[in-house]
Parts: sequence; C-alpha cells; structure tokens
Amino acid sequence: MNKTFEIANSIFDEIIAIRREIHKNPEQGFKEFKTSELVQAKLKEYGVDEIICPVGTAVIGVIKGTKGSGKTVALRCDMDALPVLENTGLPFSSQVEGVMHACGHDLHVAMMLGNAKVLCSMKDEFAGTVKLIFQPSEEVQPGGSRPILETGVLDDVDAFFGMHVSPTEDEVGKILLKRGPVTTSADEFEIEIIGMGGHGSAPHKAKDAILAGCQLNVLFQQVQARNIDPLDTCIFTTNVMQGGTKSNIIADNCKMYGSVRCYTPEARAVAREKIADICRGVEKLSGCTIKDVVMDGYDACINDDGLIDTFIEAYGAENVVMMKTPMGFSEDYSFYATKTGKPSVLMFLSAGHEDGMPVATLHSANCTFNEASVPYGISAMSTAALSFLAK
Ligand SMILES: [Zn+2]
Ligand SMILES: [Zn+2]
Repeated sequence: MNKTFEIANSIFDEIIAIRREIHKNPEQGFKEFKTSELVQAKLKEYGVDEIICPVGTAVIGVIKGTKGSGKTVALRCDMDALPVLENTGLPFSSQVEGVMHACGHDLHVAMMLGNAKVLCSMKDEFAGTVKLIFQPSEEVQPGGSRPILETGVLDDVDAFFGMHVSPTEDEVGKILLKRGPVTTSADEFEIEIIGMGGHGSAPHKAKDAILAGCQLNVLFQQVQARNIDPLDTCIFTTNVMQGGTKSNIIADNCKMYGSVRCYTPEARAVAREKIADICRGVEKLSGCTIKDVVMDGYDACINDDGLIDTFIEAYGAENVVMMKTPMGFSEDYSFYATKTGKPSVLMFLSAGHEDGMPVATLHSANCTFNEASVPYGISAMSTAALSFLAK
C-alpha cells in the first residue's frame, strides 16, 4: 500500500470516532444540518484552503497542491440517513428514533474527512486542486447532486470519483470496480386509469379500470422480453396498485406507481416510449382514459475506462476486485458525469460487517460494517485523486 494508506491508518481512531458520532446522530435527506456543521468544523481544523457552502447543507472542501495549478478532481460523498429503526444493538446505535445510517453514508462522510486530512498533509506532493464534495440527500429524490451542480461550483472539475460501502462477507478493504455501467437509471411512473363503474354482473356496460391496470402491468414486462436487447436490462416494477371500493362494483379508477431501471440510455429511451405506447393501446382496448406520467429519476452511472486504468495502476491490481456484474440500484452520483460531460468512476469498498453480526443488506435495520475497511476506503479515494492529477 502507498503513503496515503500509512496516513489513513495513523488517523484511524480519530476517523472512527467521527463515524460513530455521525452514526449516533443520523439526519435525513436535505436536513443534514448537524452533519454539515461537523464537516465544516473538521475541514477548518484540517486546514483545507477553502470551504464552500454552495446550497442547503452541502459543503465543498478545496485543497490546492503547492506544486502548481494543474487539473481539478472532485471526490464525492453523501451525508443522509434513512427512515429505518435501528436494530443492531451496537453501542453507538442511532439516538434518533426511526432514523438510521443504514446505507453507510456515515462511513462515507468520515472517510471523506480522512481524505481531507491525508491530502492536506500531502499538499506539497501534488499540482492541481482537489474538491471534496459532501452532498446532501442521495436517498430522497430529486437528490442532492443536481442542486450543487446548478450553482456552477463544480464547473472547473475535470474528473469525479465516488465511493459506496458494500456489506460483503469477505475480502474486507478490497476495492470493487466495474467497467462501463455500474448502477441503473431509475425513472418513476405514475399512472391513473379512469374507467366507468358499474354492477359486477354487467361488465359490458362498464369500463373496468382494474382490468386495464392489470393489462398495463403485464404488458410492461413484455418490454424487456421483446423490445430490449436480451443482454441489456430493463426492470419494470409496479409497486403500488390501488383501485376499486367493493367486491361487487366494477372499479371506475385505478392508480399505479412504479419504477423502471436500465443500464443504458438506449434501453431507457425504449422503456419510456413503450410506457406511452402501451397506455394508448390499453386505452383503446379498455375504453378507459389513462393519464401516464414518467418522472426523470437518477441516471445510470457509467464508469470511465481511462480513469479506472489510471487508478488501478496507482493503487495496485492486487487491492482491487473486478466486479462481474453491475449493481441493481441507482445513485444520483451519476449526475456529476451526465450533467458535466466529465469522466467519472463510482467504486465500492468491501466493508464487511461487524464481528458476530449477520450479513445484512444496505437499508436493513441490521446493517453493520467492519470499521477495519475505513483506511482502505480513504487510501483508495486519495490515490484516485492523486493519480488523476499526476497523469
Ligand atoms: Zn441507500
Ligand atoms: Zn447509499
């Protein structure tokens, strides 16, 4: 491991104390007031060159290398917690009932402060600028990245790196990397079907909104089966379906809410077009009126090959595990690349779980992490920044 790891290791206790403090005091999306204050205080203490608060609770720490002007690279973390009642029993469990850092963003913030300390102490070893982004609200749409980007404070950034912890069973501390698409886009649809109610014995005199809704849901599954390249993915899930009033009355109304996730812009465009086509077809078939709205959600994260090569060369292939498949979830980290046209990488840190605790998925009330992974996470992100600036 390189010098960044040595420094990260030497500040282990301090960073873990910060992580536990944040874990005890979780705050949900766009309301990370105390976390934002703590971040600003620590950045000041660590000696960053500038602290920018561009919008809401967002904080950007700017560190300038003393070897010259050079390029600008941004490292991003997210700060928000989730509406989950913690069930881990850990001594530093959440003290806010019903709110928990169940997605590991407490580790993200602590590790990013670790990067601040590492890079401040290595200022005389690099040229260029590092911007550390502490972003509000990854979990609550429309996400905290777009408001930051809209302020223009990141217009000078040449490349972005982000990291998410992964509660895996083994190889704690390894960096998990995938070339190309690594998370899905996630658009949400809201559909209202307006039919005509009637007696359950006389369907021919009514317009059944529930039957139309069922047809929509089944036909959406056909998009993956018949309109998308079998090697690509398009996940349609209708997660809420509401309609009708009584077992012998034909429903005059049905509402459907769901999401559609894709790895490629091509599949995403087809999915959106087919939602409209299917709604028009079922409208004709059922005689109902169908109002369909698709809301732009997060874009897919597409990792840049050149950035991955530079990172692996600097960090060591033996410290990296190449992922065979992408993640199924989505991340508003995607917007740093898609809104600026700049290359980006989202990497994952194999962060295990607390000794003696079961492996639990992200967002679970039982989700824990192995803090031994923290110095590796700091070192990987600092190395990513330094290797990009040196290239
Ligand atoms: Zn999450
Ligand atoms: Zn997360």
